[in-house]
Amino acid sequence: MNNINAIKTSLFAALLLLSYTLVAAEDVVVDSTVKTPLEPYDALSLPRELKVRLMDPWAPLEAVSTTDEPTIPPQMRVRDFTDTFDVLAPPDDSVDPKFEEERRTGEIRGSGHFRCAILMYHGFHDPPRTLYEISSYDFAEQCKFLADSGIEVIPLSTLVDALVTEQFAMVPDRCVVITVDDGYQNFYSTARPILKQYGFPATICIYTNFIGGGKIALSWEEIREMSGEGWLEVASHSLTHPNLAKSRGRFPTYSEWLSREIVGSGNIIQNHLNVPVKVFSYPYGTYNSSADSIVRHSSYEAALTVHPGPTDIDTDPFVLPRYGIYRSCTISKFARFVQGGSVDAEYLQFVSNDAMGQEKQPGTSN
Ligand SMILES: [Zn+2]
Repeated sequence: MNNINAIKTSLFAALLLLSYTLVAAEDVVVDSTVKTPLEPYDALSLPRELKVRLMDPWAPLEAVSTTDEPTIPPQMRVRDFTDTFDVLAPPDDSVDPKFEEERRTGEIRGSGHFRCAILMYHGFHDPPRTLYEISSYDFAEQCKFLADSGIEVIPLSTLVDALVTEQFAMVPDRCVVITVDDGYQNFYSTARPILKQYGFPATICIYTNFIGGGKIALSWEEIREMSGEGWLEVASHSLTHPNLAKSRGRFPTYSEWLSREIVGSGNIIQNHLNVPVKVFSYPYGTYNSSADSIVRHSSYEAALTVHPGPTDIDTDPFVLPRYGIYRSCTISKFARFVQGGSVDAEYLQFVSNDAMGQEKQPGTSN
Protein backbone atom coordinates (compact mmCIF):
# COMPACT_ATOMS: atom_id res chain seq x y z
CA MET A 1 0.00 0.00 0.00
CA ASN A 2 2.83 2.33 0.95
CA ASN A 3 4.56 1.47 -2.29
CA ILE A 4 1.49 2.37 -4.29
CA ASN A 5 1.23 5.67 -2.47
CA ALA A 6 4.91 6.33 -3.05
CA ILE A 7 4.46 5.63 -6.76
CA LYS A 8 1.41 7.88 -6.88
CA THR A 9 3.32 10.63 -5.11
CA SER A 10 6.30 10.45 -7.44
CA LEU A 11 4.06 10.27 -10.51
CA PHE A 12 2.27 13.39 -9.35
CA ALA A 13 5.55 15.14 -8.62
CA ALA A 14 6.73 14.31 -12.13
CA LEU A 15 3.51 15.68 -13.63
CA LEU A 16 3.80 18.81 -11.54
CA LEU A 17 7.39 19.31 -12.67
CA LEU A 18 6.31 18.85 -16.29
CA SER A 19 3.55 21.42 -15.94
CA TYR A 20 5.99 23.85 -14.31
CA THR A 21 8.28 23.43 -17.28
CA LEU A 22 5.47 23.95 -19.78
CA VAL A 23 4.20 27.06 -18.04
CA ALA A 24 7.70 28.44 -17.83
CA ALA A 25 7.92 27.84 -21.57
CA GLU A 26 4.69 29.76 -22.08
CA ASP A 27 6.18 32.88 -20.55
CA VAL A 28 9.02 33.11 -23.00
CA VAL A 29 7.08 32.46 -26.19
CA VAL A 30 7.98 35.08 -28.73
CA ASP A 31 5.27 35.96 -31.14
CA SER A 32 6.56 38.21 -33.86
CA THR A 33 3.08 38.58 -35.39
CA VAL A 34 1.96 40.85 -32.54
CA LYS A 35 2.63 44.37 -33.69
CA THR A 36 0.18 46.51 -31.82
CA PRO A 37 -1.70 45.80 -28.64
CA LEU A 38 -5.12 45.71 -30.24
CA GLU A 39 -4.27 43.83 -33.39
CA PRO A 40 -6.16 40.56 -33.85
CA TYR A 41 -4.00 37.70 -32.72
CA ASP A 42 -4.10 34.29 -34.34
CA ALA A 43 -3.81 31.67 -31.64
CA LEU A 44 -4.25 28.94 -34.23
CA SER A 45 -0.69 29.54 -35.30
CA LEU A 46 0.66 28.77 -31.85
CA PRO A 47 2.73 25.61 -31.45
CA ARG A 48 0.59 22.56 -30.78
CA GLU A 49 1.80 22.15 -27.20
CA LEU A 50 0.57 25.61 -26.26
CA LYS A 51 -2.92 24.90 -27.52
CA VAL A 52 -3.61 22.49 -24.71
CA ARG A 53 -4.24 23.79 -21.27
CA LEU A 54 -1.03 24.11 -19.36
CA MET A 55 -2.56 23.67 -15.96
CA ASP A 56 -4.95 20.84 -15.21
CA PRO A 57 -7.97 22.61 -13.72
CA TRP A 58 -9.22 19.29 -12.42
CA ALA A 59 -6.15 18.62 -10.32
CA PRO A 60 -7.31 17.66 -6.84
CA LEU A 61 -7.15 20.56 -4.43
CA GLU A 62 -5.01 18.47 -2.08
CA ALA A 63 -2.29 18.75 -4.68
CA VAL A 64 -1.93 22.44 -3.97
CA SER A 65 0.33 22.92 -1.01
CA THR A 66 -0.77 25.81 1.14
CA THR A 67 1.60 26.66 3.91
CA ASP A 68 0.00 29.99 4.71
CA GLU A 69 -3.05 30.27 6.83
CA PRO A 70 -6.03 30.65 4.46
CA THR A 71 -7.50 34.10 4.60
CA ILE A 72 -10.53 35.57 2.90
CA PRO A 73 -9.41 38.21 0.41
CA PRO A 74 -11.22 41.55 0.85
CA GLN A 75 -13.03 41.13 -2.45
CA MET A 76 -14.50 37.85 -1.24
CA ARG A 77 -16.25 39.55 1.64
CA VAL A 78 -19.80 40.13 0.62
CA ARG A 79 -22.75 41.96 1.97
CA ASP A 80 -24.97 39.85 4.14
CA PHE A 81 -28.45 39.80 2.67
CA THR A 82 -30.01 37.57 5.27
CA ASP A 83 -31.56 40.57 7.01
CA THR A 84 -33.15 41.95 3.91
CA PHE A 85 -34.09 38.85 1.98
CA ASP A 86 -36.05 35.76 2.97
CA VAL A 87 -34.83 32.56 1.46
CA LEU A 88 -37.56 31.13 -0.77
CA ALA A 89 -39.68 34.20 -0.15
CA PRO A 90 -42.77 34.49 -2.34
CA PRO A 91 -42.58 37.01 -5.19
CA ASP A 92 -42.45 40.58 -3.98
CA ASP A 93 -46.07 41.81 -3.96
CA SER A 94 -45.04 45.40 -3.34
CA VAL A 95 -44.49 45.77 -7.09
CA ASP A 96 -46.42 48.69 -8.48
CA PRO A 97 -49.66 47.25 -9.98
CA LYS A 98 -49.45 49.58 -12.97
CA PHE A 99 -46.70 47.35 -14.28
CA GLU A 100 -48.86 44.24 -14.20
CA GLU A 101 -50.58 44.73 -17.54
CA GLU A 102 -47.36 45.61 -19.35
CA ARG A 103 -45.67 42.69 -17.71
CA ARG A 104 -48.48 40.39 -18.86
CA THR A 105 -48.17 41.61 -22.42
CA GLY A 106 -44.41 41.27 -22.34
CA GLU A 107 -43.68 44.97 -22.61
CA ILE A 108 -42.24 44.99 -19.12
CA ARG A 109 -40.90 41.99 -17.28
CA GLY A 110 -39.80 43.49 -14.01
CA SER A 111 -40.46 46.39 -11.69
CA GLY A 112 -37.06 47.85 -12.49
CA HIS A 113 -35.58 46.71 -9.20
CA PHE A 114 -34.28 43.26 -9.89
CA ARG A 115 -31.98 40.91 -8.10
CA CYS A 116 -30.16 38.55 -10.40
CA ALA A 117 -27.85 35.67 -9.52
CA ILE A 118 -25.18 34.86 -12.09
CA LEU A 119 -24.18 31.23 -11.63
CA MET A 120 -20.76 29.89 -12.57
CA TYR A 121 -20.28 26.27 -13.54
CA HIS A 122 -17.20 24.49 -14.86
CA GLY A 123 -17.80 20.86 -15.72
CA PHE A 124 -20.45 18.14 -15.77
CA HIS A 125 -19.60 14.50 -15.25
CA ASP A 126 -21.13 11.32 -13.79
CA PRO A 127 -19.87 10.89 -11.19
CA PRO A 128 -18.08 14.21 -10.59
CA ARG A 129 -14.32 13.70 -10.68
CA THR A 130 -13.34 16.94 -8.97
CA LEU A 131 -14.86 19.58 -6.73
CA TYR A 132 -15.53 21.71 -9.80
CA GLU A 133 -17.70 19.18 -11.58
CA ILE A 134 -21.31 18.39 -10.83
CA SER A 135 -23.32 15.36 -11.86
CA SER A 136 -26.01 15.49 -14.52
CA TYR A 137 -28.48 14.49 -11.79
CA ASP A 138 -27.58 17.52 -9.65
CA PHE A 139 -27.62 19.84 -12.64
CA ALA A 140 -31.05 18.56 -13.70
CA GLU A 141 -32.30 18.97 -10.15
CA GLN A 142 -31.04 22.56 -10.07
CA CYS A 143 -32.70 23.32 -13.40
CA LYS A 144 -35.94 21.78 -12.16
CA PHE A 145 -35.72 23.93 -9.04
CA LEU A 146 -35.41 27.05 -11.19
CA ALA A 147 -38.31 26.00 -13.41
CA ASP A 148 -40.53 25.20 -10.41
CA SER A 149 -39.61 28.32 -8.44
CA GLY A 150 -40.51 30.75 -11.19
CA ILE A 151 -37.09 32.38 -11.03
CA GLU A 152 -36.50 33.16 -14.67
CA VAL A 153 -33.29 32.20 -16.43
CA ILE A 154 -32.30 35.05 -18.75
CA PRO A 155 -29.47 35.45 -21.25
CA LEU A 156 -26.38 37.23 -19.95
CA SER A 157 -26.78 39.78 -22.75
CA THR A 158 -30.20 40.81 -21.42
CA LEU A 159 -28.67 41.59 -18.04
CA VAL A 160 -25.64 43.37 -19.52
CA ASP A 161 -27.78 45.41 -21.93
CA ALA A 162 -29.95 46.53 -19.01
CA LEU A 163 -26.95 47.58 -16.92
CA VAL A 164 -25.27 49.38 -19.82
CA THR A 165 -28.37 51.23 -21.02
CA GLU A 166 -29.89 51.57 -17.54
CA GLN A 167 -33.14 50.28 -18.99
CA PHE A 168 -34.11 47.74 -16.40
CA ALA A 169 -37.68 46.90 -17.33
CA MET A 170 -36.74 43.84 -19.37
CA VAL A 171 -35.06 42.17 -16.41
CA PRO A 172 -37.41 40.09 -14.26
CA ASP A 173 -37.44 40.94 -10.56
CA ARG A 174 -35.94 37.57 -9.68
CA CYS A 175 -33.70 36.00 -12.28
CA VAL A 176 -30.68 33.87 -12.90
CA VAL A 177 -27.95 33.82 -15.54
CA ILE A 178 -26.11 30.57 -16.25
CA THR A 179 -22.42 30.80 -17.16
CA VAL A 180 -20.01 27.93 -17.74
CA ASP A 181 -16.28 28.62 -17.75
CA ASP A 182 -13.42 27.13 -19.75
CA GLY A 183 -15.05 25.22 -22.64
CA TYR A 184 -15.15 21.60 -21.64
CA GLN A 185 -16.79 19.16 -24.05
CA ASN A 186 -19.04 17.83 -21.29
CA PHE A 187 -20.98 21.07 -21.57
CA TYR A 188 -22.11 19.87 -24.99
CA SER A 189 -22.58 16.21 -24.09
CA THR A 190 -24.08 16.55 -20.60
CA ALA A 191 -25.36 20.05 -19.80
CA ARG A 192 -26.73 20.98 -23.23
CA PRO A 193 -29.52 18.34 -23.32
CA ILE A 194 -30.72 19.41 -19.85
CA LEU A 195 -30.61 23.12 -20.68
CA LYS A 196 -32.54 22.47 -23.89
CA GLN A 197 -35.10 20.38 -22.02
CA TYR A 198 -35.85 23.36 -19.79
CA GLY A 199 -35.40 25.95 -22.52
CA PHE A 200 -32.74 27.80 -20.52
CA PRO A 201 -30.22 30.13 -22.18
CA ALA A 202 -26.58 29.95 -21.13
CA THR A 203 -23.21 31.58 -21.73
CA ILE A 204 -19.94 29.72 -22.12
CA CYS A 205 -16.73 31.57 -21.30
CA ILE A 206 -14.02 29.98 -23.40
CA TYR A 207 -10.27 30.42 -23.55
CA THR A 208 -9.54 30.11 -27.18
CA ASN A 209 -6.30 28.11 -27.14
CA PHE A 210 -8.20 25.27 -25.49
CA ILE A 211 -11.00 25.05 -28.04
CA GLY A 212 -10.56 22.21 -30.49
CA GLY A 213 -7.70 20.93 -28.34
CA GLY A 214 -8.75 17.31 -28.12
CA LYS A 215 -11.54 15.19 -26.72
CA ILE A 216 -12.04 17.11 -23.49
CA ALA A 217 -12.53 20.48 -25.17
CA LEU A 218 -15.48 21.82 -27.10
CA SER A 219 -14.90 22.17 -30.82
CA TRP A 220 -15.64 25.32 -32.77
CA GLU A 221 -18.25 23.29 -34.71
CA GLU A 222 -20.10 22.40 -31.50
CA ILE A 223 -20.00 26.00 -30.30
CA ARG A 224 -21.16 27.28 -33.69
CA GLU A 225 -24.05 24.81 -33.64
CA MET A 226 -25.26 25.88 -30.19
CA SER A 227 -24.69 29.56 -30.86
CA GLY A 228 -26.61 29.25 -34.12
CA GLU A 229 -29.57 27.77 -32.26
CA GLY A 230 -29.89 31.05 -30.42
CA TRP A 231 -29.75 29.85 -26.82
CA LEU A 232 -26.01 29.96 -26.28
CA GLU A 233 -23.88 33.08 -25.89
CA VAL A 234 -20.10 33.08 -25.89
CA ALA A 235 -17.82 35.18 -23.72
CA SER A 236 -14.04 35.35 -23.80
CA HIS A 237 -12.03 33.75 -21.01
CA SER A 238 -8.65 34.80 -22.52
CA LEU A 239 -6.28 32.98 -24.86
CA THR A 240 -4.36 30.77 -22.46
CA HIS A 241 -6.13 31.08 -19.10
CA PRO A 242 -3.28 32.84 -17.27
CA ASN A 243 -3.30 34.83 -14.06
CA LEU A 244 -3.77 38.26 -15.65
CA ALA A 245 -2.65 40.02 -12.48
CA LYS A 246 0.83 38.56 -12.76
CA SER A 247 2.88 41.11 -14.67
CA ARG A 248 6.36 39.63 -14.38
CA GLY A 249 7.85 37.89 -17.40
CA ARG A 250 5.15 38.89 -19.87
CA PHE A 251 6.21 39.51 -23.45
CA PRO A 252 6.80 41.85 -25.18
CA THR A 253 5.36 44.13 -22.49
CA TYR A 254 2.83 43.45 -19.80
CA SER A 255 0.18 45.68 -21.39
CA GLU A 256 0.66 44.20 -24.87
CA TRP A 257 0.46 40.73 -23.44
CA LEU A 258 -2.70 41.70 -21.55
CA SER A 259 -4.25 43.10 -24.72
CA ARG A 260 -3.48 39.92 -26.59
CA GLU A 261 -5.04 37.76 -23.89
CA ILE A 262 -8.06 40.00 -23.38
CA VAL A 263 -8.77 41.62 -26.75
CA GLY A 264 -7.09 39.06 -29.00
CA SER A 265 -9.15 36.23 -27.59
CA GLY A 266 -12.37 38.13 -28.24
CA ASN A 267 -11.30 38.76 -31.83
CA ILE A 268 -10.67 35.06 -32.36
CA ILE A 269 -14.12 34.14 -31.09
CA GLN A 270 -15.73 36.77 -33.31
CA ASN A 271 -13.81 35.47 -36.30
CA HIS A 272 -14.92 31.90 -35.64
CA LEU A 273 -18.54 32.56 -34.80
CA ASN A 274 -19.28 35.85 -36.50
CA VAL A 275 -21.04 37.18 -33.42
CA PRO A 276 -20.03 40.13 -31.23
CA VAL A 277 -18.29 39.14 -28.00
CA LYS A 278 -19.35 41.60 -25.33
CA VAL A 279 -18.26 39.94 -22.10
CA PHE A 280 -14.88 38.97 -20.69
CA SER A 281 -14.53 36.42 -17.90
CA TYR A 282 -11.37 36.75 -15.78
CA PRO A 283 -9.43 33.46 -15.53
CA TYR A 284 -9.44 32.39 -11.85
CA GLY A 285 -11.39 35.61 -11.26
CA THR A 286 -8.06 37.43 -10.83
CA TYR A 287 -7.47 40.90 -12.22
CA ASN A 288 -5.80 44.17 -11.39
CA SER A 289 -6.23 47.78 -12.49
CA SER A 290 -4.26 47.18 -15.73
CA ALA A 291 -6.46 44.28 -16.81
CA ASP A 292 -9.58 46.13 -15.71
CA SER A 293 -8.56 49.18 -17.73
CA ILE A 294 -7.97 47.18 -20.92
CA VAL A 295 -11.32 45.42 -20.60
CA ARG A 296 -13.10 48.74 -20.04
CA HIS A 297 -11.37 50.46 -22.95
CA SER A 298 -12.01 47.70 -25.46
CA SER A 299 -15.30 46.76 -27.07
CA TYR A 300 -16.29 44.60 -24.10
CA GLU A 301 -19.32 45.84 -22.24
CA ALA A 302 -18.97 43.74 -19.11
CA ALA A 303 -16.65 41.47 -17.14
CA LEU A 304 -17.35 38.45 -14.98
CA THR A 305 -15.55 37.92 -11.68
CA VAL A 306 -15.87 35.22 -9.03
CA HIS A 307 -16.92 37.49 -6.19
CA PRO A 308 -20.10 35.86 -4.90
CA GLY A 309 -23.21 38.01 -4.60
CA PRO A 310 -26.28 39.26 -6.42
CA THR A 311 -26.38 41.67 -9.33
CA ASP A 312 -28.77 44.60 -9.10
CA ILE A 313 -29.24 48.00 -10.75
CA ASP A 314 -26.23 49.42 -8.90
CA THR A 315 -23.78 46.74 -10.03
CA ASP A 316 -20.80 47.85 -12.12
CA PRO A 317 -21.09 45.74 -15.30
CA PHE A 318 -17.30 45.38 -15.36
CA VAL A 319 -17.29 43.74 -11.95
CA LEU A 320 -20.15 41.27 -12.26
CA PRO A 321 -20.34 38.90 -9.29
CA ARG A 322 -20.96 35.18 -9.67
CA TYR A 323 -21.95 32.30 -7.44
CA GLY A 324 -19.73 29.29 -8.10
CA ILE A 325 -21.74 26.08 -8.20
CA TYR A 326 -19.43 23.31 -7.09
CA ARG A 327 -19.88 19.62 -6.40
CA SER A 328 -20.56 20.36 -2.75
CA CYS A 329 -23.51 22.67 -3.53
CA THR A 330 -26.63 21.27 -1.91
CA ILE A 331 -30.04 22.14 -3.30
CA SER A 332 -30.81 24.29 -0.24
CA LYS A 333 -27.60 26.25 -0.79
CA PHE A 334 -28.47 26.51 -4.47
CA ALA A 335 -31.90 27.87 -3.51
CA ARG A 336 -30.23 30.58 -1.44
CA PHE A 337 -27.76 31.52 -4.18
CA VAL A 338 -30.31 31.78 -6.98
CA GLN A 339 -32.23 34.28 -4.88
CA GLY A 340 -29.17 36.43 -4.40
CA GLY A 341 -28.61 35.25 -0.86
CA SER A 342 -25.38 35.25 1.09
CA VAL A 343 -22.67 32.66 0.89
CA ASP A 344 -21.52 30.76 3.95
CA ALA A 345 -18.14 30.37 5.60
CA GLU A 346 -17.59 26.98 3.97
CA TYR A 347 -18.03 28.51 0.52
CA LEU A 348 -15.69 31.40 1.28
CA GLN A 349 -13.10 29.02 2.64
CA PHE A 350 -13.32 26.93 -0.52
CA VAL A 351 -13.01 29.92 -2.85
CA SER A 352 -10.27 31.42 -0.72
CA ASN A 353 -8.25 28.19 -0.73
CA ASP A 354 -8.80 27.96 -4.44
CA ALA A 355 -7.63 31.53 -5.05
CA MET A 356 -4.55 30.84 -2.96
CA GLY A 357 -3.91 27.69 -4.92
CA GLN A 358 -4.04 29.64 -8.15
CA GLU A 359 -1.52 32.13 -6.79
CA LYS A 360 0.82 29.21 -6.22
CA GLN A 361 0.52 27.97 -9.74
CA PRO A 362 3.50 26.91 -11.69
CA GLY A 363 4.94 29.95 -13.35
CA THR A 364 3.94 32.32 -10.61
CA SER A 365 6.38 31.16 -7.99
CA ASN A 366 9.56 30.99 -10.00
ZN1 LIG B 1 -11.44 29.23 -16.07
